[in-house]
Amino acid sequence: MKKKARFVVQEHHASHLHWDFRLEMGGVLKSWAVPKGPSLDPTVKRLAVEVEDHAVSYLTFTGEISEGHYGAGQVYRWDIGTFEITEGTALESWRKGSLRFRLYGERLRGEWRLFKMKGRKEKGKPLWLLQKVKDEFAIAGHEAEKQG
Ligand code: MN
Repeated sequence: MKKKARFVVQEHHASHLHWDFRLEMGGVLKSWAVPKGPSLDPTVKRLAVEVEDHAVSYLTFTGEISEGHYGAGQVYRWDIGTFEITEGTALESWRKGSLRFRLYGERLRGEWRLFKMKGRKEKGKPLWLLQKVKDEFAIAGHEAEKQG
């Protein structure tokens, strides 16, 4: 049986609060910063700014990134679990800018999609949208709850 890849969502109290959404693929964590956090509402598309790959060891990181370092502030583990790509293969879909996957987390479950907005960048970083696919795990009006 194929080993399931892992995902994590970290609530990051940096200069601007955001949620880091990370999917394990190709030996790294492909990563996006989601300013408003994931929503289980399938009518909501959340901006997800592509950020640099992180090491897989960062999956379990929580704690304080100290002052003077990039992303200084508290990092909470908001959700962690496994995922599977439901269309195509992970890296190829990432390169094409369109991912469909199923999450097996505590807060986030069911099917999702992440797709790149063609030609849209912010400070050189590609902009994607994260959206829940309508299924039994969808919740109308859902907002990411803050910890800490
Ligand atoms: Mn971050």
